[in-house]
Amino acid sequence: MTDGDPRLDLLRSRIRDVPDFPKPGILFKDITPLVGDGPAFQAAVDLLAESCAGYRFDRIVAIESRGFVFGGALAARLGLPMAMVRKPGKLPYRRDSTSYALEYGEGTLELHVESVRRGERCLILDDVLATGGTARAAATLAEGQGGRVEGYAFVIELDFLAGRGKLADKPVFALLHY
Ligand code: AMP
Repeated sequence: MTDGDPRLDLLRSRIRDVPDFPKPGILFKDITPLVGDGPAFQAAVDLLAESCAGYRFDRIVAIESRGFVFGGALAARLGLPMAMVRKPGKLPYRRDSTSYALEYGEGTLELHVESVRRGERCLILDDVLATGGTARAAATLAEGQGGRVEGYAFVIELDFLAGRGKLADKPVFALLHY
């Protein structure tokens, strides 16, 4: 993938900006037009697979809920297992939890126990990298189960929020930058 790859223009054209969602001042990057377009969705999954092709992963750790859309497609493409990091109250079985700072207050994420095996190399995946707290919390859960975080992948990175600074110098792949 290069910066001039025409598939990136296709993806960019399928991201809808929604001002003031979920609260005033946030410009929400809506990926529903992208997944609603077959060739664009395929291009996104192809580009994610290509951009992390030089690295070896044993498992994708995807973050609720839009991360599941891309994580599931990428895991199936690569023939890798996927672990699902969820918001509180969604997972039925025994689970690990971690709390992290949000812009206002605190968030919590959960992962079923034994979702990641000891020593597994993990790719953390979500749709958008904003401040990085969510991705870092997912990494904490995977590491708590003995996984090794090898890198992070996103469809969109909001560069001005400098979220990759929280991701401890691991490789960060993002298809689109704003
Ligand atoms: P953060 O922890 O700040 O990196 O936030 C990342 C999480 O919030 C991801 O799961 C994103 O889906 C979501 N998110 C944060 N900011 C936006 C945004 N501007 N547009 C869409 N999703 C966002």
